[in-house]
Amino acid sequence: MGVGDVVLKPDREKSLAQAALDLMGECGVVPTPDNFEIFYAHASGEVSAVSHTIAEMLAHKKPFTPEILRELRAQTKATAAMEQVGEGMNSVIASVMGRLNDAGRDAGHYSSKLSAATGELDADQSPDDLRKLVNSLLAATREMENRTSSLEKELQKSSDQVNDLRNKLEDVHREALTDPLTGISNRKAFDNALAAAEAAMAEGDDPVSVILCDIDHFKKFNDNWGHQTGDQVLRLVASCLSENVKGRDTAARYGGEEFGVVLRGTALRDAMRIAEQIRHAVEARRLVKKSTGDVLGTITISIGVAQFAPKEKAETVVRRADSCLYGAKQNGRNLVISEKDPRMAHLSINAA
Ligand code: GH3
Ligand code: MG
Ligand code: MG
Repeated sequence: MGVGDVVLKPDREKSLAQAALDLMGECGVVPTPDNFEIFYAHASGEVSAVSHTIAEMLAHKKPFTPEILRELRAQTKATAAMEQVGEGMNSVIASVMGRLNDAGRDAGHYSSKLSAATGELDADQSPDDLRKLVNSLLAATREMENRTSSLEKELQKSSDQVNDLRNKLEDVHREALTDPLTGISNRKAFDNALAAAEAAMAEGDDPVSVILCDIDHFKKFNDNWGHQTGDQVLRLVASCLSENVKGRDTAARYGGEEFGVVLRGTALRDAMRIAEQIRHAVEARRLVKKSTGDVLGTITISIGVAQFAPKEKAETVVRRADSCLYGAKQNGRNLVISEKDPRMAHLSINAA
């Protein structure tokens, strides 16, 4: 049953709604309809992933930032959509099973009629009796034809419904791997791409590099221009990433203002070139606040780049790229630093 259409006693509904509102109050969450939907889902226990995240946040006294609320809302929506698809599948299967049962019964009746007619044919019969017999067989055959054709139509309808559900499922799947703010891949998709790259590397496949980016002084930008303008910047950085990668590469927003790219079939030198292109694309954009025309100046990003060593775990190559990113911050920001950079000589891979 879907999150939105649970049949409950009004008393229970009221107390769930009250519990949701109380918890929102305690957590300092603005009671918008969107936020209410999340906390109601939590109070009802209908969406276990959401309840789990909220329970964790409460246990660790973490604040409900707009980003977390956005994430929770996406989770609530995805679960509701999944449940809808599941219910749709169940009802299509039930209706097909019912129709197949009917068809089996119809075929049984038809077959008994044919057997009875065969028995009657054995006897000595007048032409009149034979005509009657043939007519009744014709009628039974026509009826069977009609039923078969209506069964075909219904099965076609069910098959169309299954196709619709499959498309919905694909939408849910795509959404589960997409960052709702920027429309590029999310953390989950990034992790999947890393796992796939790790597996391919273990098979001795082509080289794979990882790029990690972080916006420079983004906190200051948010403080100066507001969170919503900050969100626009996140979209801008995401678009610079997408425009500079292609094919099997995965560009993702894996954290608040942190982005990553998994570059398949790309060795460090080419990954560095792509990282430079991305860095430059971001730096080259002139930011203007649409509503006021205010010139916001420019935004820069720092980037770390590392390449998978043979049989290496994704986790360690990401750690190296992250150290390089940290190195880029340390060395003045708006920089790309790779694991082969002399400033990264302390990384174990260089020592090896
Ligand atoms: P540095 O150059 O060292 O990276 O400095 P910084 O200010 O970018 O780093 P810090 O980690 O201190 O701050 C990151 C900021 O990113 C904090 C938060 O306000 C902002 N941020 C994280 N997620 C979002 C988001 O979804 N939207 C907006 N607008 N801001 C976000
Ligand atoms: Mg950061
Ligand atoms: Mg930053």
